[in-house]
Amino acid sequence: MSSSSSIASRFALKYNPEQYRRIIAGKEIILHCHHYNSRIQSTIEGTPQVDGKKIFSQAAESTFAEHVTAALDPADDTATKWQVAGALYAHLGYGRLDLSSVDGGGVTATASHFVEGWSAGFGQRKAPVCTFTEGFLQGALHAVTGESAHFVERECMITGAKACRFERVNGRQDAVRGIHKQPFAHTQKKKTFDSPANVDAAKIVSALVGMPIHGNDEGLIPAFGVYLANTPADFYNLASIRFIEEMEKHGLGKTARRLLVSDAETCAMNTFRGIMSSAEWAGLVQPMIEKESDNLFGIVAVSNALGWGNWHVDTFAPGRVLRIESLNGYEAYGFREMRGTSQSPQCLMLCGVAAGIMALVFGKGTVEERIGSYGSAESECVCSEKASCVFTVEKL
Ligand SMILES: [Zn+2]
Ligand SMILES: [Zn+2]
Repeated sequence: MSSSSSIASRFALKYNPEQYRRIIAGKEIILHCHHYNSRIQSTIEGTPQVDGKKIFSQAAESTFAEHVTAALDPADDTATKWQVAGALYAHLGYGRLDLSSVDGGGVTATASHFVEGWSAGFGQRKAPVCTFTEGFLQGALHAVTGESAHFVERECMITGAKACRFERVNGRQDAVRGIHKQPFAHTQKKKTFDSPANVDAAKIVSALVGMPIHGNDEGLIPAFGVYLANTPADFYNLASIRFIEEMEKHGLGKTARRLLVSDAETCAMNTFRGIMSSAEWAGLVQPMIEKESDNLFGIVAVSNALGWGNWHVDTFAPGRVLRIESLNGYEAYGFREMRGTSQSPQCLMLCGVAAGIMALVFGKGTVEERIGSYGSAESECVCSEKASCVFTVEKL
């Protein structure tokens, strides 16, 4: 076994300011909140035409087979390897796992990001909800022992159980899938954007990057009125690309895209509303705000610290039109690396967020009333060999 501080040092955040990327143990990390993570789970698992649970768990499995491997040291013994896997899971903000009986086939969890997220968005349910954790454990098992097995959640806190309990099920026939990415050599466009001089975007980004956004004793990250999690970009890209591909087989590709855009729109309103009413916003951003529309520039600066990439307001008519340009979004890069080029734009998360932040800053009423009040479209995408992704948002 190793000391927990020597293990935690493996997860130190590296931030690349030119690319606006967060990297933990070799993987590009995206910050999203429990609203977004549970909504995309609900979308992917809630569509009867496809096996969404499999898509979601396989995306986690492939991602964490690599991520846990990257966090291991060749000198680690097996106990230390499991310790690293559990510490990574908690550090990223998914909760606390008890892996002491993993050799005997059982794992329990007493805190879960996905239970928190589902409870907040959708309430109780009859079936366990921690699909992501099943996939994580399958990936971690492969990284630690080289074995392939399933982990099945038998009891879950979402149904009222005291802890989530996962059982190892042997006899698995298929291998753990690798991610298979081709390097994508994209020269990020150089461009300067005008923003109000009073909104100091660089100061906002550097303050957020300096914040210790990692799991607490429970392995959760309560911040800004939401639960955050640090999730590898690979997970989001695998889950959404495979979901769309499976839906396309049923002629439902457009529906899949629309659902994912809508999840992001809702998430943007919930997350940034939480951020705008937080003490951190009051201390850091609020003093820079002179008029209502400055909030939009503050939000975009905050989002550039979340690892999504580097995007900026291009042109803007307060309350009516927003044109926003993304130079290296994680969805665009992920698609290019995993699938190559595409006729259609692929950045559904940013597309939804663009509409959501306009609705948040300029809309009226509850989140539900604001949904759909702005329409957003991605007119150019790096996936279609354009130099950047461009989103246009208009009042409907
Ligand atoms: Zn659970
Ligand atoms: Zn794009």
